[in-house]
Amino acid sequence: MQCTTSELRQSRGVIESYREFLPVSDSTPIVSLGEGNTTLIYCPQLSKRVGRGCEVFVKNEGVNPTGSFKDRGMTVAVSKAMERAASAIICASTGNTSASAAAYAARAGILCIVILPTGKIATGKLLQAFAYGAKMVAIDGNFDDALGIVRELGDSHEFVIVNSINPDRIAGQKTAAFEIVDVLGDAPDFHLLPVGNAGNITAYRAGYREYQAHQKSTKVPAMIGFQAAGAAPIYYNRIVEKPETIASAIRIGNPASWKQACAAIAESHGAIDFVSDQEILAAQSWLAKHEGIFVEPASAASIAGLFKCCDSNEAAYAFQNIPEASRIVCTVTGHGLKDPDAITQAMKELKPVAATVNDVRHAIGL
Ligand SMILES: *Cc1c(COP(=O)(O)O)cnc(C)c1O
Repeated sequence: MQCTTSELRQSRGVIESYREFLPVSDSTPIVSLGEGNTTLIYCPQLSKRVGRGCEVFVKNEGVNPTGSFKDRGMTVAVSKAMERAASAIICASTGNTSASAAAYAARAGILCIVILPTGKIATGKLLQAFAYGAKMVAIDGNFDDALGIVRELGDSHEFVIVNSINPDRIAGQKTAAFEIVDVLGDAPDFHLLPVGNAGNITAYRAGYREYQAHQKSTKVPAMIGFQAAGAAPIYYNRIVEKPETIASAIRIGNPASWKQACAAIAESHGAIDFVSDQEILAAQSWLAKHEGIFVEPASAASIAGLFKCCDSNEAAYAFQNIPEASRIVCTVTGHGLKDPDAITQAMKELKPVAATVNDVRHAIGL
């Protein structure tokens, strides 16, 4: 049978790839931008850092269509919204959820409404929501106020809420765990990732368990989650009223999936830990310069966490005595270009020199 050009060229997206594991039927209209199937990159420098013959892989979610893992959940949430004949989706977000929601709504031809809390907004993410044509409403209030309004409007059935309180989002996000097992041939021994609202750690845990139940893997990894030091409610086991961190995607004081995250960590014999903003920025820079992977600050929390596990006596999980040849996967959740403000300082120090070979040689340091 001959394929049409569109069939040949289009990447399948997570629903077509993992249909039997997702809450869709033949009558669900699929809204996809070819998300998922992201690279799992072997990282020699990170592996060397861990030692003991361990292999470290980075699951690079920044290569999704809108630059973060949120697209995995959004394809399912927006497809289900279309099945219910919704005319609009709505979310509270200053970041990647709104960028992703806006793109999938555009793809589906429906309205996307974004309720923006006041506060620091990563330039790239805000710009994406505008570019995809979302209806943006800024409020004089924080994220919790925005989500409260979203919940009330969503109750009216005119709008479908696509924040992670929508279970279709979590269902879609678990496909990242499937992909890792499909590539490695089994689950890794350890999985490290940043934790904000804790939807993603919940989703990975669900994905690994489901694959094990289907005999596609023999084990589930120890899940090790990292919060930012100024936004570590799960670590401290209390709500943080005013969460503060440069890593805006994990600036969350009262995670929506708190209980599920604790269950995932306990059942997998994993851990929850925190990393400082300084450690996050150092890890972001290190990963870009040593492995060629540029991620946003929140994403670097998993790498900063890996370093902490290797180096610090205070780490919640110490790697000094992990079994030799362990396989470790770190998820990096979003692309570095989304949040350029942290890097631009170095750029400002760039001063032009005279346009001669000698001046350029001198500037290079030759
Ligand atoms: C949403 C997000 C997170 C946090 O994920 P949760 O599911 O809320 O724990 C981390 N990093 C990035 C880039 C994100 O967009």
